[in-house]
Amino acid sequence: MAEVRRRDLCLAGLSLPAIARVIHSIASSKEDSPLPKRFEETAGFQVTEVMSHSRLAILPLGSLEFHGPHNPLGSDSIIISEIAERVAARTSALLFPTIRFTHCPAHTAHFRGTISIRPEVMTMYLADVLRNITRLGAGKILVLNGHDGNIGPGRGAIAEVANESKDAALLLVSWWEFLPKEMMLQLGMFHQANGGHGHGGPLETSAVAAFRPDLVHLEQAKDVPTPPDLSGGPPYFLQKSTGADWPGYSGKVSEASAEKGKQIVHITEDGIVKLIENWLQHDEVPGSW
Ligand SMILES: [Zn+2]
Repeated sequence: MAEVRRRDLCLAGLSLPAIARVIHSIASSKEDSPLPKRFEETAGFQVTEVMSHSRLAILPLGSLEFHGPHNPLGSDSIIISEIAERVAARTSALLFPTIRFTHCPAHTAHFRGTISIRPEVMTMYLADVLRNITRLGAGKILVLNGHDGNIGPGRGAIAEVANESKDAALLLVSWWEFLPKEMMLQLGMFHQANGGHGHGGPLETSAVAAFRPDLVHLEQAKDVPTPPDLSGGPPYFLQKSTGADWPGYSGKVSEASAEKGKQIVHITEDGIVKLIENWLQHDEVPGSW
């Protein structure tokens, strides 16, 4: 929507046929993706009705973080807001505004442009937001995550709110988890051992470009080594203060493209929608099954 508004403002300097083309592209892109119900657009008199008709609330989590010289600081927020919009529309969920000021790990906090909230503050802040959403009457909340640094605080916050609620279910998922390494290698989009994953790498850069190609500057970054796999497969979580000579991103970013990004986010959206439908159909199972 921000893009539409920005384009609207630019119409003044265009010829009539050019304006017609822009309006047509706005209209057809709206047709392609129906708009979700947004919490912030709900009028005061509508709150009770909107809450009682919403089977699911979606809260997207982004970041403001250095993603290499080639990507916008809001990369995670851009990706997750767009995915959340489409997923919310497809599942008739109530969409809450993206949380953009979040916790960033130490290794990116040192780069200019990163704004980081302390993890304990982030956990309490997010728990407050979720607590308020449950008090409004939302029994089921999907926390749709776009940023690695949100996983710890996110799990802490949903644990706290689930503990103190009588009848709430909170699901936390990260969009890139729907693109496992093996799947990415099979797709053959990026020629690196981890399938294109990595901070500011070709997979993430492509996803940003899918939505905002105007904000990606591939000429600003050269290809750099992929993060090494220290375990040979099993997941692990390594947190370091800095990385010596690390440029703040990784991988073959020259292989990134908007076209690949569109395919990637389609797969992710389908995967998240399927997860939601399965979750809502199996309300009887306890958490973490
Ligand atoms: Zn990111």
